[in-house]
Order: sequence, then C-alpha cells, then structure tokens
Amino acid sequence: MNKLAGLVRRDFEDESVLVSGLPGYARRDEQILLADEIAEAFEKRGLLLAEAETGTGKTLAYLIPALRSSDKVLISTHTRSLQDQLVHRDLPAVQKALGASRRVALLKGRSNYLCPQRLKRSLTSAQPEIWQQKSLLKVQKWSDSSRDGDLSGLDFDVFAKGIGAMVTATADQCLGSRCGDFENCPLMKARQKAQSADIVVTNHSLLLADAALKSGEYGEILPGFDAYVLDEAHALPELACQHFGVQLTRLTLITWLNDVQSLLDEMGDEPVLKKELVEIGRELLDAWQKGAMEEVENHWGDMLKRVDARRERSEELARVADRAEQIAADIAMVREPGEGYVGWSDGEPDNRRYVVAPVETGPVLKQHLWDRPAAFVLLSATLRVSGSFDYSKQRLGFEDAVESFHPSPFDYGRQAMIYLPRTLPDPRSEQGISAMTDEMETLIRASHGRAFVLFTSWQALTQIGPELARRLPWNVLIQGESGSRDAILETFRSDTHSVLCGTRSFWEGVDVPGEALSLVIIDKMPFAPPNDPLLKARIKRCEELGGSGFRDIQLPEAIATLRQGAGRLIRSVHDRGVMALLDSRLYVKGYGREVARNLPPAPIRDDLSEVRWFFEAAE
Ligand code: SF4
Repeated sequence: MNKLAGLVRRDFEDESVLVSGLPGYARRDEQILLADEIAEAFEKRGLLLAEAETGTGKTLAYLIPALRSSDKVLISTHTRSLQDQLVHRDLPAVQKALGASRRVALLKGRSNYLCPQRLKRSLTSAQPEIWQQKSLLKVQKWSDSSRDGDLSGLDFDVFAKGIGAMVTATADQCLGSRCGDFENCPLMKARQKAQSADIVVTNHSLLLADAALKSGEYGEILPGFDAYVLDEAHALPELACQHFGVQLTRLTLITWLNDVQSLLDEMGDEPVLKKELVEIGRELLDAWQKGAMEEVENHWGDMLKRVDARRERSEELARVADRAEQIAADIAMVREPGEGYVGWSDGEPDNRRYVVAPVETGPVLKQHLWDRPAAFVLLSATLRVSGSFDYSKQRLGFEDAVESFHPSPFDYGRQAMIYLPRTLPDPRSEQGISAMTDEMETLIRASHGRAFVLFTSWQALTQIGPELARRLPWNVLIQGESGSRDAILETFRSDTHSVLCGTRSFWEGVDVPGEALSLVIIDKMPFAPPNDPLLKARIKRCEELGGSGFRDIQLPEAIATLRQGAGRLIRSVHDRGVMALLDSRLYVKGYGREVARNLPPAPIRDDLSEVRWFFEAAE
C-alpha cells in the first residue's frame, strides 16, 4: 500500500473522526475500496475509470485522497448542483472533520464574472438601448459592493436581460495583462486564487474550453494539476463535441462588428475604414441571411484584410484582427469540415447556427487531456453498458485506464419495483400518446403524486404535461412553463405530492431523497433522434468499419441515458419507489432483454395492480 493509500485507509479505519465530523456518516466497504483505488491512481499518475453506483458515497471517496494528498488537484463536475454541493457543503465539512488545511478555490467559466473593461465600454458606447442602459447601470452599482464580481450575486440574469455579452469578455475579447483593469478584474483574481490553491473545483465545460484553448493561441485558463478527478464523467463526450468543434452564429459576427466599431470610434481617426466596414458588414449579414456561406467567407476576408493592415496601430486593434482571423478559420471549417469532423446548421435564418463537431471524441480527449503527465480519475454512477466499460472507454479515448465497479448498497429487491407494461400501443403512434397519458395518470394516482415524469422529447412533454396537469389533483410542474429548473426542483422537493414533468435536463444531476420522489415514469426508450447529423456521421463511420450503428452506438447510448433516468428513484436506504418504462417494444424487440439487464436489480412487473399494492403496502 502506498503512502497516500495508507493515510486514506487510516481515516476510514479510525471512524470516530468521520462519525463525529460528518453527520450521517456510516461505513461503506465499497467507498473504502474506491478511495484506495483513487489514492493509488494519484500516486502512480494513473488513469482510473470507476463506476460507483448510487449510494456508494463516491464524493467522500475522492475528497479524502484529495485532502490528504500533497498534489495539486482539480475536481470537475458536469452539473452546477454537484459543484455547489462540493464547494459549499462537502469540502468544508470533510476538511474540518479531518483537520486538513488545503487551500480550496472555485473557478467558474468566464461568462460568470463581470468584465469591468467591457462594462465601461458598453456604458460609454453610443449603441445601448435605453432598457439595456438601465440594466448596465444596475450592474455598475452592484459591482461597487461585490466582493468577487461573480454575476450570480446579482438579482437578475445578465444573459436573460440581453446584456450578458456587454458585461463579460470571451477569451478572444479579453486583453489579459495588457488590460487597464487587470488589477481589479474579478476573473483574474479568481484565476490567481486558483493558481495558488491546492484543490480547485470547476466544471467540465471550463476544463474542456481550457484544453481546447491550450491547443490554440490565446493561452491557458487553468493552471497545471498533478491529479484530475472528473465526476459525472459520462457527460464528457457530448461536451467534447461542443468544445473541440466550431459553433458559429450571427451574434458571433455582430459582436465582432460592434467591437471593432467601438474601437474605431475611440480612435477617432479612421473614418474611411469605419465607413467601409459598415458597408461590408451590411453585405455580410445579407449573405448570412441567405445562407450564402461562400459570400460570407469573401466579405469576412475583405474585412480581415483591412483590419489586419492596421494591426500595428494598437494592441487592441491587433487583438480584434486576431479574433477576425479565428472567425475566418471557423467560417472556413463550416464550409469544409476537415477529416474526422462533421458539419451542419440548424435554426431559422436569423438564429441560424452552424456547427462543426468531431465525429469521435475519444482521440481529441486523449490528445488534449489524458496525455498530460497527471493522474486522471473518471467517475460516474453510469459508465458501464451491459456490465462492460468498452463503450465508455471508446467514447472517452480512455482505453488504457484501470476499470473499477462499485455496486450500490441499496436493496433494490425490497426497495423498488420496475413496471414494464406489455400492451400499450407503440409510443410513437397517435393512440400511443393517448394510452400513455391514461397510463401515466393511473400510475400517478397510485403513488399519490410524488412523481417524476421524464420525457424523451419536448413534443411529448408539451402534449402530455398540460393534460396531466388538467386531470390530476396535485401540483403538476412542467419544464418550460413552471419557472427555472432550480425553481421547479425546489417546489417539487417542498410540495410532497407534486409531479414534475421534464425532458433531458432532469434525467441526471437531480437528487431528491425521501418520499417526494416515489415514482419515476419514463415515456419510452431514449433513443437519440435518428436524423441527428452527428449521430448519423458516427453511425456511418461505425458501419464503414464493419460495426452496427444500432448495436454499437444507438443502443448503448439509449441504455446509458435510461440508467441515468432510472437512477433518480432510489437515493437512500430509506427510499421506496417504482420505475415505470412505458415502452412495450421491450417485450417484442430483440434488444428488450439487454435493456432489462441494465435496469436496477428490482423485480419487473407488468400488472398495474402490483404497482397499486406496492404503494398501498407502504401506507
Ligand atoms: S482582463 Fe479581460 S476579463 Fe478582465 S477586465 Fe480586462 S478584458 Fe475584462
């Protein structure tokens, strides 16, 4: 046993410290085993891929090695709820219980911090509308008293108010050490704190944005670390598609045009250039509206040439020229995605978005992250498909990792039941929707509300959610109608019999222990839409290599999502509940057995009266 593993083992063996310092602490053998493995990965600078099912206590299993180690450690999460829980609850409590004194810092993405430079420029520019001006003044007033410039301290959301881009700086807008506000910059202060911290907590988006930038020319956001703990690691491949690709919108172009105009206004001696840029900009936006990307590319090239010729005039103009170059490269990539990338566009002309993404995320993650000389521990409650890590390893590019699996301590046989009806019509048919609504109503009446209804599409949510609200006597909260995600969850937790209807964002990262969540209904198998361009490209590539798109991609993806959704039900040893999957195709399709094997190990029933008895037995 190595030195760190010895220290960690001693903390778990000498339980008195954990019992007295952490309310509710109870010894869990799987947690101790996982902590050992994590300590070993830290010491060996190894790669560990660990599935720790709900209830294992994986957070404590990595916090103790992180607090006992002398390494500089990064902890990254996918959801904000887990990040908040770590920073505000778990880390301070465990640190105190152990008597450890590691310096901890939270680092969020750039768009979470006020940029004083852009706020000033926005306030003095002639462009803001009156309503924007009012909000900008509020931000200015708030900034005088804010300690850290974290925009979550404001009582409104700057992006929802339409001034987000006016008070924050993107990586390519930031002037860095050449900025006049550098000393007072909230982002720079947060970064300095992270530089000197022993443990930094952040999110996957920031980590991946940083990894993508390090391959570019704008420098790094995060310092280097000896060990990386990435919780909720199942989310990494999808995020990697966003961060290692290109997303181009009209707003990208307009923001650059506005920035260059403000700069020329400040310089005051380039009226001809300003006039030319206005004219080319107008033609550029017309071409965008028509979707004529070749014209867009030509007009952008014209502007770039003009600004580039003046880059010696000032640092700021050079910076703007650099950004124009980057955007030119993005436009070129949209026109011709390189080998291994796929491109598409979505949305109406005004809001059209062009996307380019890597078809396979494994190679880019390996190149930008796992090849670093550091330990990487990737954890999640759902990484295996049919008992194998192969699919996750391939998606993550984490082929050389040590695998470990830690089963849930919950007694699913006693605590839970799975309801799979046999006779419902195909969920995609017209009768399917009506039969599904009736079935959901019956189930929710049996559980007296207290239900999560997870939909695979917005269309099903908007068809069925309001109908349930009309029929049921309890408060039915509907995503998109009943407030923000956080507000909906708060109401759901406090109103025991309420019902929550939501789509993908409620399938994971939601923890509602206790009787408020006693029934999880999933409308159908969560297969990704077959017309998704990225999925199509992945399937094509897989089939070219001799695989099966359905067996090797669509099914494992759907099973992983299903496992996330099913995982919302039992969150503690005291919970009891039913998971209903209203998709009778499972009885007739070849994949049915495999799906059933991936569900929690609870008895599977097809009779509604058994569901009623299950709930009646608890009354
Ligand atoms: S350093 Fe960058 S983020 Fe900070 S105030 Fe200056 S431009 Fe804004």
